[in-house]
Amino acid sequence: MVKHAVPASPNNFLVWYTHVAGREPDLSRMISILIDNNQDFTEAVNTDLYFKFFSLEEQDQALHETTTRIETELQHILRYVGDAGEGAAEYGRSLASVKGDILGAKDVEGLKNAVTKVIADTRKMEEINLTLESKLAQSTDEIGQLREDLEDMRREALTDALTGMANRKLFDMELRRHARDAMESGENLSLLMIDIDHFKTFNDTYGHQTGDEVLKLLASTMTKAVKGEDIPARYGGEEFAVILPSTDLDGAVHVAEHVRDRISTKKLVNRATNQNLGRITVSVGAATFEFGEPLSDLIRRADQALYKAKAIGRNRVVSQADLKNGELTFS
Ligand code: GH3
Ligand code: MG
Ligand code: MG
Repeated sequence: MVKHAVPASPNNFLVWYTHVAGREPDLSRMISILIDNNQDFTEAVNTDLYFKFFSLEEQDQALHETTTRIETELQHILRYVGDAGEGAAEYGRSLASVKGDILGAKDVEGLKNAVTKVIADTRKMEEINLTLESKLAQSTDEIGQLREDLEDMRREALTDALTGMANRKLFDMELRRHARDAMESGENLSLLMIDIDHFKTFNDTYGHQTGDEVLKLLASTMTKAVKGEDIPARYGGEEFAVILPSTDLDGAVHVAEHVRDRISTKKLVNRATNQNLGRITVSVGAATFEFGEPLSDLIRRADQALYKAKAIGRNRVVSQADLKNGELTFS
């Protein structure tokens, strides 16, 4: 921050801490582009970075608009139903008075007038009902559209924009849900943490954009390599996780090996330039859930196994069973 003359405000700290920690790839990419283009980090630029990545204003705004539209539609419906109710009451009163007219009719002419009035009032009532029907149909359409909008917003909030896979938020939700299910059913639940090997070097060599393409490719390879209930997610910048319901540690290691193998055997070629980019490998840590433990413990064990996979040479899978006791209590 000093190097780029960014003032030490809380918001700027949040932006730069997140960038340096590699937690928000889109933010890091934007900062890299600004630096590459020798742009100054003016107050406007800093504010823009903060609002783009840390303020929920836009999402809030969209949610607020949708909620307001729903309220408006509900008010419309209440008004239509109220109007129709008034119409029906008036019709009831008119029927009551016509009854008197008919009973008290002295001649055919009087009877004819009374019947004509009933017919006219019935027509009016029919019109009111038709109008109500069409207005209710309009409101139903509008509410259907609003429901779809809300569903889109929800999906967007839980999807990683680059890879289209589950994002960290959805990962957290799913892990919690599956831990609960596992405790109820007594089934196993395992977790893989996956980190790309030497990805910084790859980015430095071929550029961030090519790095992003690789992330997309890995995400799709990973998604194809797991199946059924398994949930692959982008955990952070170049880290992925896979939740494996109904899977014990051996099964998890098996899946991890499969994923690792699928990735390491892919030859990377830049289609546009035909440039050979070599191969990318990943290291994987595998852990299994112990009923009742905090989920942070499960994640920590998978992380420690991943860390060990890195330490002993990368492009490999290490399971929690390969950790020494001392490593388990490391925090
Ligand atoms: P290691 O084998 O120890 O994991 O080495 P590494 O270089 O992968 O690890 P390090 O944590 O030093 O660097 C991670 C790099 O991943 C830094 C950053 O350039 C890159 N990265 C993180 N998120 C993204 C992203 O969204 N897009 C791209 N292109 N690169 C990213
Ligand atoms: Mg990493
Ligand atoms: Mg890495």
